[in-house]
Amino acid sequence: MTESAYNPDTASVEVDVVIIGGGPAGLSAALNLARARASVIVVDAGRPRNAATLRSHGFLTRDGVSPLELRKLARAELAAYPAVRVLDRTLATAVLPTDSEIGMRFIVALQGRSAGLPPAVAARSVLVATGIRETLPAIPSLRAYYGMTMFSCAACDAFELQDRPLALIGDTLDLADRARLIARWTDRLTVFTNGSDVIDTIEEAELAASGIAVERRPIDDLEGERGTVSAVRLTDGTRIGIEGGFVRPHWDPALDFLAPIDVDRDEDGHLVVDGSGRTTHAGIYAAGDAAAPGPQQLIVAAGQGARAAAVLVQDLIGVRTAH
Ligand SMILES: Cc1cc2nc3c(=O)[nH]c(=O)nc-3n(C[C@H](O)[C@H](O)[C@H](O)COP(=O)(O)OP(=O)(O)OC[C@H]3O[C@@H](n4cnc5c(N)ncnc54)[C@H](O)[C@@H]3O)c2cc1C
Repeated sequence: MTESAYNPDTASVEVDVVIIGGGPAGLSAALNLARARASVIVVDAGRPRNAATLRSHGFLTRDGVSPLELRKLARAELAAYPAVRVLDRTLATAVLPTDSEIGMRFIVALQGRSAGLPPAVAARSVLVATGIRETLPAIPSLRAYYGMTMFSCAACDAFELQDRPLALIGDTLDLADRARLIARWTDRLTVFTNGSDVIDTIEEAELAASGIAVERRPIDDLEGERGTVSAVRLTDGTRIGIEGGFVRPHWDPALDFLAPIDVDRDEDGHLVVDGSGRTTHAGIYAAGDAAAPGPQQLIVAAGQGARAAAVLVQDLIGVRTAH
């Protein structure tokens, strides 16, 4: 493995792996790559998807930890490995292929304000761990409740809301299925299609048979205070009392920086990977929410990062399977 080295000719730093994204997927990959004696640069814009929430659930040994604390713990562990350098508040703006087939195969262009930030980093391999961007339903005060009493991930947050009157708000075709899932935690669920017709009459009858109400009228806003939602207010003035709920955002992996690379994406834009995190472009790997099949959880992202790291090291050496 190469030492991290500054190359005055190209004014760039050379490393084995550039990891784009410093969430659980990227940091877990960095830890495992460092332990395999790879030189690593983690580039992180510092805008994690779960920043809205105060507590993260379901991460073994860290159930209920704040997202910030989880990142701090991970960063403290990485600090023990000099082969890893983290570039904070830095954006990877482009990944460009080079002519080299086995050496530095990629140049990663950077943008940020940190003193001494190189304009670019050259890498043998790149791991994309940039998560996803989410667009919430257009309800004026939704952000005030999101991460407090309104969430998007049932596995992450439904346990804390169980047995309460809940809302599910969305306009995606999987809304009825998500309703059936959330009904596992409450028998007082109302699905708000917010004026869209994503639930047909057959599905509505099936949901009704399971005790799930469907409300088709458009939403004016949510009501409540200090992050605690108390009602959904419809445009005709009707108020439907709730004590929490879920929304179905639109998810978009923001991967414009990969435009110069020919790599397969699925219909939702996620990077297509094999079971080990290899994308369809040699030398480019993906882990966490940016990789198909889509949004998951912190511990899953961390696991995918570790798995991609192991395979990446094998690929750098030229060994196919040496688990
Ligand atoms: C409100 C909410 C609550 C949640 N609660 C839970 C929970 O309780 N339990 C749970 O397991 N999961 C929870 N999740 C899901 C969890 O946050 C994600 O599954 C997890 O963060 C995915 O990790 P990741 O490393 O793939 O991406 P992220 O954690 O999103 O990290 C990606 C990082 O990449 C950076 N980045 C993006 N683009 C670039 C670029 N071009 N250059 C440099 N850096 C870039 C971002 O700024 C970010 O820091 C929650 C999500 C939300 C929205």
